[in-house]
Amino acid sequence: MTTANRRSVLQLTAAMGAGALAGAASAATPSGAGKPVFDVPRVFIPIVGSDAVFPVRRIYCIGRNYAAHALERGSDPSREPPFFFQKPTDAIQVVARGVTVDHPYPPLTHNYHHEIELVAALGRGGRDIPLERALDCVFGYAVGLDMTRRDLQNEMAAQKKPWEIGKSFDHSAVISPLHLASAGGFTKGAIWLKVNGQIRQTSDLSKMLWSVAEQISRLSQSSELFPGDIIYSGTPENVGPVVAGDLMTGHIDGLDDINVKVV
Ligand code: MN
Repeated sequence: MTTANRRSVLQLTAAMGAGALAGAASAATPSGAGKPVFDVPRVFIPIVGSDAVFPVRRIYCIGRNYAAHALERGSDPSREPPFFFQKPTDAIQVVARGVTVDHPYPPLTHNYHHEIELVAALGRGGRDIPLERALDCVFGYAVGLDMTRRDLQNEMAAQKKPWEIGKSFDHSAVISPLHLASAGGFTKGAIWLKVNGQIRQTSDLSKMLWSVAEQISRLSQSSELFPGDIIYSGTPENVGPVVAGDLMTGHIDGLDDINVKVV
């Protein structure tokens, strides 16, 4: 990268850090805490063109955010209010540029599904963020896979139990390095997923029912958002199963493809 580009990365990173300090302290910040009895690893996402890394605080995901996917999941594709769920922060599996990463087939499932998604990573947070300022919070974007144990999700939903076990498990939040956000955000462009070279999912970001800006604004009404929060913005139609040996290639226009082999 050029010196000018590197400088802009550093300036943006510094500006985002200042914004974080200006905000309220996270509720998790200890006061007068003693020495931890052991270390818990923190989770980071690489940033394209920078030696700096993005620390992950929370992983939010929106459900049924493309009409055709809402239909295939048996719900109303009209703009019903968005709903969100979370994955544990350490569910992140980073897929570095130009590398095929081994992704372990998880336990308990016999119907393991891919969901290709745009991910927005926040460098600023807040409460009740107005729509017109929401994209100012975005630090960068990435290609993500919201990997899903569909059989477990469906079984739990049928019993009216929380379907967390279908969504929240080790390595279930696959993500590429972050590209710095540019003005206007990602509101259109191709999004697709191939398995073993065959197209499985293909759509356009413009078909999202709720834009990234709307997702940020909505989420900030229910929880204060903070730097380090990331949002998986929903998957288009034709989710489906993968098995050990399958190679997934994920693409979003303007970002790096990801290559993930199920093992
Ligand atoms: Mn999803």
